[in-house]
Amino acid sequence: MTSVSTRELCAWLDATLKASSFKDYCPNGLQVEGCERVSHIIAGVTASQALIEVAIDRGADAILVHHGWFWRGEDPRVRGTQRTRLAALLAANINLIAYHLPLDAHPTLGNNAQLASRLGLVADRQQPDASDPTSPPRTAGASNLIWLGSMPGAATLGQVAKQVAARLGREPLVVGAVDQPAQTIAWCTGAAQGMFSEAIDAGANVFITGEVSEPTVHLARESGVGFIGAGHHATERYGVQALALAVQQQFGLKVDFIDIDNPV
Ligand SMILES: [Zn+2]
Repeated sequence: MTSVSTRELCAWLDATLKASSFKDYCPNGLQVEGCERVSHIIAGVTASQALIEVAIDRGADAILVHHGWFWRGEDPRVRGTQRTRLAALLAANINLIAYHLPLDAHPTLGNNAQLASRLGLVADRQQPDASDPTSPPRTAGASNLIWLGSMPGAATLGQVAKQVAARLGREPLVVGAVDQPAQTIAWCTGAAQGMFSEAIDAGANVFITGEVSEPTVHLARESGVGFIGAGHHATERYGVQALALAVQQQFGLKVDFIDIDNPV
């Protein structure tokens, strides 16, 4: 079976995702070291116990995820479920490789880019090459994680929400009137409800993200900007799949994406 050294694999992933250029809430790249060579990777959204068990059952050498471990502010002690996860991973000698913000932001493989193509969103492109679909997307917010664009064929919040539901196979939470305008759409996958005001400042008519909080609803009502909470897991299933495919093409490894359902 084709294999690559763990070191070479992680170096390629780090470089491809420009991991060192991000200030993040967790370490990016190799989080837990396992065996020295990798031939079979299990990819998923989150390094949960269920995903680890699939990797062990299938004899995988590495787990590749968007949500790894060791988040800032988390209790760092190795107890309870964290102990169970770590013990299973170490006993099986499996590498845990995770990319958080670098995987959200990547211009083609990232969650924002992949969600856009899934939903039929077309990103605005930065000047001077605004008509070139390969030029960088127009972004907003302190970390440039909000993308701006439009959804051809959808002129209202109701039409956008309907397309989101159909493309993700999941009914989104919508705040606003169905006939509100939707010319300019801002989006950021995952738990970006805290960036809603930045999307409003950037001129969006609609903001699409994964999660919602109580204040989000008031901000949507009082600003007149539509809000769509399409699911954290549902909006972040696509980046890691694109990355897994890129790894497969680069190294010829066996890569399986495992979707472990999450209603949030
Ligand atoms: Zn996330």
